[in-house]
Amino acid sequence: MNHLKKIKRIYNSRPQSVGDGFVGKNAISANHYEDFSPFLMLDHHGPMQVKPSDVPKGVDEHPHRGIETITLVFEGALQHRDSAGNKGTLLEGDIQWMSAASGIVHEEKHELGFSKRGGILNFIQLWTNLPSRYKMTPPRYQEISASQIPQVKMSENTNIRVFAGDFAGVSGTAKTYSPIILAEIKTTGKDYFRLSVPQGYNLGVYVIDGTLTVNEQSKLSAGLAASFEREGDEIILSTESPIHALLLGGEPIQEPVVAYGPFVMNTQAEIRQAIADYQMGKMGHLD
Ligand code: MN
Repeated sequence: MNHLKKIKRIYNSRPQSVGDGFVGKNAISANHYEDFSPFLMLDHHGPMQVKPSDVPKGVDEHPHRGIETITLVFEGALQHRDSAGNKGTLLEGDIQWMSAASGIVHEEKHELGFSKRGGILNFIQLWTNLPSRYKMTPPRYQEISASQIPQVKMSENTNIRVFAGDFAGVSGTAKTYSPIILAEIKTTGKDYFRLSVPQGYNLGVYVIDGTLTVNEQSKLSAGLAASFEREGDEIILSTESPIHALLLGGEPIQEPVVAYGPFVMNTQAEIRQAIADYQMGKMGHLD
């Protein structure tokens, strides 16, 4: 017998821009880590109109330690390079799962060809926390193209893509350091379905576009997020019209969090060490 997860809270997004090329909103922040752990942050950049430019805009060289950054491109194209020697291009439908762990320096930009042409850019960046035992392990980089991502046809109107975790009957592509579910839901019209997640998981839903009804009760419009109680193992989603949404969850990491900008550790001393290590060049440089 399944047990419905109750909605815990609904969150409004607030305007947020990053660097000189990513304009959008922040929907989940570390202030609500308790509700979304292991997820720390969700920024939705776009949909925005990028004006043609020979010099790609975005975010210049900056560090991370103790977390993963996950980038999901829905429209447009991004390019990435980092101090571990990874270079990548993310096109529509592709994702990047970067485990900064002990430290990485990277830049995130509009892809050169896309920048020159201009067009619509629409993507999400999530940050996940790492369990303390993995925070100082070497960085790991997973670039996953759209064709490598399993899709589940739930009904005539609904498709789910599973990026990570065992969900909707398939296993997501990304390797994770703690149990995580990350999936995208797209409907082309009216639908109603139930989704199961393991008992005890944190779970959240973010509406990218359209209006989604959760547990036959709360209507969430675009830009809103909801969290669920850990108790229970099922949610109900329904809609009258096309929607695009993200489902994010996992086993909560029950450890202290001390966050300072791009560094998320367990103690103040570890944050001071991260700043010192970055300043001394221990997280590397871009070529
Ligand atoms: Mn970054």
